[in-house]
Amino acid sequence: MADYDFIIIGAGINGLALGALLSKDGARVLVLEKSREVGGRAWVQERGGFRVDYGMHLVRFGKESVLSAICSALGHTLKFHNVESTCLVADGTQLEIPARGASQSMNMFAGDRTLEELKRVSVQAWMDEKGMGRRLRRLFTATSATLNVNPFVERSSVGELLLNLKKVGESEVGAAYPVGGWQPIFRLFRDRIGKNGQVRTATPVESITVQEGRAVGVRIREKNITADRVISAIPCQELFNVLDEKLCPSKFIAKCRGFRPTSGIVLDYGISGEIAAERNLWCLWDPLSYGFFPSNFEPRLAPPGHQLLTWFYPLEKFQVEDEQASRGFKSGLEEAIFALFPALPERIKWSRSLYLPMVDGAEVSVDQIREDRPEPIVPGVEGLFLVGDSIGGEGAGGDIGHNSVVQCYLTITGKKI
Ligand SMILES: Cc1cc2nc3c(=O)[nH]c(=O)nc-3n(C[C@H](O)[C@H](O)[C@H](O)COP(=O)(O)OP(=O)(O)OC[C@H]3O[C@@H](n4cnc5c(N)ncnc54)[C@H](O)[C@@H]3O)c2cc1C
Repeated sequence: MADYDFIIIGAGINGLALGALLSKDGARVLVLEKSREVGGRAWVQERGGFRVDYGMHLVRFGKESVLSAICSALGHTLKFHNVESTCLVADGTQLEIPARGASQSMNMFAGDRTLEELKRVSVQAWMDEKGMGRRLRRLFTATSATLNVNPFVERSSVGELLLNLKKVGESEVGAAYPVGGWQPIFRLFRDRIGKNGQVRTATPVESITVQEGRAVGVRIREKNITADRVISAIPCQELFNVLDEKLCPSKFIAKCRGFRPTSGIVLDYGISGEIAAERNLWCLWDPLSYGFFPSNFEPRLAPPGHQLLTWFYPLEKFQVEDEQASRGFKSGLEEAIFALFPALPERIKWSRSLYLPMVDGAEVSVDQIREDRPEPIVPGVEGLFLVGDSIGGEGAGGDIGHNSVVQCYLTITGKKI
């Protein structure tokens, strides 16, 4: 008998969510995480009384989100603080865009083609086709930056964007912040797995063990642990760090390796006093970037009398990896944030800058639509499954990962959540 029913590599939110669902069915699940903490790219840091997310972390569609459905399947109702609107700041003016307004404009512009047909059409080509003026172009470019996490309208998929906007219309929520923050969600998943399994941190997986074409376990610290099935919950770009390339078709290897993530710079500020009371998403046109005050939604994230501000500036991966250029982008962004909140520079207790080549595992673009992403099964290896935000799953950004959890769970168990 194998040591475990499932071994999951990676304790990011998606590995943990899938582990929790399998554990609820009675499976013995072992999750192995190389870092000292769980959370991966959604990790939460304790910092001088602040609970700081790894950059801005909102949930698209709030209570209608798939993350909420996963928690419900585990017997927990996730509650949210809704972001009611986006405030677009351009040329010194502020335009308030309610979540519903954006989806209504979508209905006006969708036209005769189906959203599926529009998936391979860029936002740019579509705006040209519709003969949009400057104001509407800005609106859709900003919406592409926030909802698709893709400001590069020459390749951002308009079909995927309109699908997202349709869901905003259906749920009447653009984005929301979980009540209590992200830590309780990680705790929920971890506790569930702990009932009949284990989450081990500081345990990097060296390789997946494959015998006669079937995954039978993993190797850690020169030891083998066996399982009936293995799930890789690391980004597909890193799969072949732990899996022997000789086992898979070259097309699949190239697809995983070459998948383009989203990239960018994150700025976080711990602030003494209050510099803004708004509970919206701020979107700067120049440079095209966005942010919000998480502590205005969830006051427990900051000590009394303090605030947290987080900002994200989507960039090309090569721009983030160029040290000198990225420092320049950061300075330009900070200048624009300070212009928007003149009281901020005096009130900063601490700040954090992150230069991230991978924000989301998959950029949503015309050459990387839902159908282009790897599926949860690995060609050439039985008993090995994939989950995460670079794997097949609808939506954009983190939603892809949460949808892939549901899809992988269905593939493994045949059950819908
Ligand atoms: C700054 C930022 C802002 C974001 N904002 C949002 C947002 O607002 N909304 C949203 O929905 N999404 C957002 N995202 C995306 C979201 O965070 C990710 O989609 C999600 O965290 C991905 O989770 P995952 O479990 O798929 O992968 P990961 O979080 O990458 O987890 C993979 C885990 O595997 C571990 N690992 C890797 N190799 C090994 C190995 N060999 N052995 C053991 N462990 C290994 C890693 O350490 C990691 O913990 C944001 C991401 C970032 C970085």
